[in-house]
Amino acid sequence: MKKYDHSKLEPKWQKAWDKAGIYKAKDFSKKKKWYSLIEFPYPSGQGLHVGHVKSNTAMDIVSRKRRMQGYNVLYPIGWDAFGLPTENYAVKTGIHPAKVTKQNTKIFEKQLRRIGFSFDWDRLVDTTDPEYYKWTQWIFLQLFKKGLAYKGKTTINWCPNDKIGLANEEVVGGKCERCGHTVEQRVKEQWMLKITAYADKLLKGLDGVDFLPEIKRQQANWIGRSEGAEIDFPISTGAEKITVFTTRPDTLFGATYMVLAPEHELIQKIMPQLSNREAVEEYVKLASGKSDEERIADARSKTGVPLRGILAINPATKKEIPIFVADYVLSNYGTGAIMAVPAHDERDLEFAIQFGLPVVTVVSDTGELVDSGPFSGMRFEEAKRAIVSYVNGRPRVNYHLRDWVFSRQRYWGEPIPLVHCADCGWVPVPDKDLPVKLPQVKDFRPRSDGESPLASATAWLKTKCPVCKKPARRETDVMPNWAGSSWYFLRYVDPKNKKTFADIKKLKYWMNVDWYNGGMEHVTLHLLYSRFWNQFLYDCKLVPKSEPYAKRTAHGMILGEGGVKMSKSRGNVVNPDTVIKAYGADTLRMYEMFMGPFDQAISWDPKSIEGLYRFLNRVWTIGQGTTISARAKNEELVRLTEKTLKKVDEDIEKMAFNTAISAMMVLSNEMSRAESIPEKSWAKFLCMLAPFAPHITEELWQARFGAKKFSSLHVEKWPKWETKLVKEDLATIVVQVNGKTRSILKLPTDSTRQIAEKAAKEDSLIRKYLEGASVKNVIFVPNRLINFVI
Ligand SMILES: [Zn+2]
Ligand SMILES: [Zn+2]
Repeated sequence: MKKYDHSKLEPKWQKAWDKAGIYKAKDFSKKKKWYSLIEFPYPSGQGLHVGHVKSNTAMDIVSRKRRMQGYNVLYPIGWDAFGLPTENYAVKTGIHPAKVTKQNTKIFEKQLRRIGFSFDWDRLVDTTDPEYYKWTQWIFLQLFKKGLAYKGKTTINWCPNDKIGLANEEVVGGKCERCGHTVEQRVKEQWMLKITAYADKLLKGLDGVDFLPEIKRQQANWIGRSEGAEIDFPISTGAEKITVFTTRPDTLFGATYMVLAPEHELIQKIMPQLSNREAVEEYVKLASGKSDEERIADARSKTGVPLRGILAINPATKKEIPIFVADYVLSNYGTGAIMAVPAHDERDLEFAIQFGLPVVTVVSDTGELVDSGPFSGMRFEEAKRAIVSYVNGRPRVNYHLRDWVFSRQRYWGEPIPLVHCADCGWVPVPDKDLPVKLPQVKDFRPRSDGESPLASATAWLKTKCPVCKKPARRETDVMPNWAGSSWYFLRYVDPKNKKTFADIKKLKYWMNVDWYNGGMEHVTLHLLYSRFWNQFLYDCKLVPKSEPYAKRTAHGMILGEGGVKMSKSRGNVVNPDTVIKAYGADTLRMYEMFMGPFDQAISWDPKSIEGLYRFLNRVWTIGQGTTISARAKNEELVRLTEKTLKKVDEDIEKMAFNTAISAMMVLSNEMSRAESIPEKSWAKFLCMLAPFAPHITEELWQARFGAKKFSSLHVEKWPKWETKLVKEDLATIVVQVNGKTRSILKLPTDSTRQIAEKAAKEDSLIRKYLEGASVKNVIFVPNRLINFVI
């Protein structure tokens, strides 16, 4: 008997599929289109991660099934290759990041090809390719021309020791990841994208898409729309006032103190009037060293300092109340100042208890106002509007969403295609001069003045103003990590187009993405950014659909053995190549789909890999045996095959890959015990297993059903199950009396009305209702319900 030699047969079929071109997507094919998308990988020096394999395999299974169902499938791949790790490597070694990227993508491509994913490799994109980022720059310019890109002041993380700006991921616990020095916040002028102009559209768009409920919830939270009002609080010393945004103006009579964020501009203005100036200054300085995340996380033990010497006046009660500076209030939410209502806000209450401040209840448990002057007794909903107008407040909608900082003072990113002219201001580089290519520099390190290394590329920097032709200077900041991934799904549709980012006819054929799977960690930033770009392009009539993704699901992480995160420093990173070498790509794919529920975080377990390997060996053995024949009759096995097919089909749609595999394991056990296997059942089994383990199934399929001219199993028709054979043996019938459920019966499927009525009347729970009553009518729904009307 032939041995299962995955190391030979897997590369063999990969070559054959490639040659036959069975995974190529065809523009404008008459078939129905299907577009599957995964998050394209960052080609790091460490090679492919087993986490990539999980997400890629899941969408590969869906794509393969759709292909067999007759769809014209687009399942593309590319490289999201700008960014920090490659840049840091370049700083360390002096090797140009473009060269490093080339090396890394080569390794990634080889690894991905070896797992047998059904990607259309002809559509490969690379965000660092000038032919790609030309269009990233072009889309940025459309945003600029529409007033959605502007220069604004923001804070950046600054390491005073290294003298460089740091990305958020380079700040660990408030310290610089490189040198351990405390990170400061520095104000800098940077390019910003006005995503807030799309806040309502991004929120409303969620109604029409099929995203996991948790993903919709996180997107909505991130946008954070709240309706409320702005209210002014005068200050005891005269001219100044404090404006707050509140969603609870009905609680205004309970505002017993106010809090300013440490960055609030009023603090510096009134500093000379304070009697405890030193304490306030010190507190503000301390708070500037903390990130927003830390400030929120630290909220348990609240800190703050009163501003002694001034008081605010509650515009409703006209009473004087104290003002504090405290870092539990963030400067970038609302106005950076709050009215504190300790009776009706938990964080305010904790602070009030700590500082011994009055707590005044102004809304009762039943929602009526108390202790609120003329508004006492009013319902709180009504009181909201009434109190806002009483104190001359202004109704406002507020968002948690901030504009997107679109600048980095680094090297390895897309140059921002703008020129600064002393006379004309910021001027776009004309379309014909795109792309603005990254210049060669000797030193990739950010400069100690906080500017990008591009500021040292003197020859590149100096240019002419496209409008007045006078000497001008190029922008030296580059785009952030998220730029290239904001539109890559559009480029896949038409990756080689030199005239536009993608042809509108092709976009009309392919968009939107039918199913997008990715990580939960990307559902706030990347998912919002890419929806924003697509909605913007839709408003410019450049793409056909306002929402880019019809469906978005998420996978759980793969952890190391024992449930800890896989990391280089722990030495517990599993290299997929090792598993492939020992067991083959099919086993790796099967294992990652079997290890647990798809959306859960699961630990790597080398012992279970063996189990999947044994399963495939069993399938192999059945395929070599003599029990399969066209004449074989085995009713029980036929019935189990049909049932398994139905389960596998439905489980794939639910991403319940692990239970689909369990069902196939049960079927393979029965097959290996059977004296005879009908050929039709064997064919169906190979078809349902094909999306999971494409290589072994192709080998076994060709061995039994192959013709002279190669036709792959993976373009065979997805089988249908025999409906009459998959029926459950017993149906659950609800028994009602006058429409109220009184009992539940299990009866053989398709029992007649006579049988069901007889059984129901004999049921002890039903008998007592029918005794002495006259039955006027009996309503019967086969396999579902029987209702006695008495
Ligand atoms: Zn540092
Ligand atoms: Zn000019």
